Amino acid sequence: MHEASIAQSILDIAARHADGARGGRITSITVTVGALAAVEPECLRFAFEALARGTGAEHATLEIREDEGRGACRACGAEFAVTEFLPLCARCGSPEVHVSGGDALTVDSMEIEP
Ligand SMILES: [Zn+2]
Repeated sequence: MHEASIAQSILDIAARHADGARGGRITSITVTVGALAAVEPECLRFAFEALARGTGAEHATLEIREDEGRGACRACGAEFAVTEFLPLCARCGSPEVHVSGGDALTVDSMEIEP
């Protein structure tokens, strides 16, 4: 499952940070998920909670922010937020839309208690 491997990467990053903080307990993790990354936040949260059991992040809360992509229409030049694959231009309906961003998954911040 896609979300499970993402949750595992988040936990790997969290574990490295906790080691740097001499094995503190992780209380919260904030991640940004692109709206176009094909990640269901609820699935990600579920996978995270399952995989975090028995780790230093077991009781951490996972904050998930969604990040929209940006579309630029090649036909009319309009720029607009994109939240789906293969978007149509919000102004003229053209499918000739160049999409940037919205596909990243980043760990923004993490709180660790000693
Ligand atoms: Zn357009």
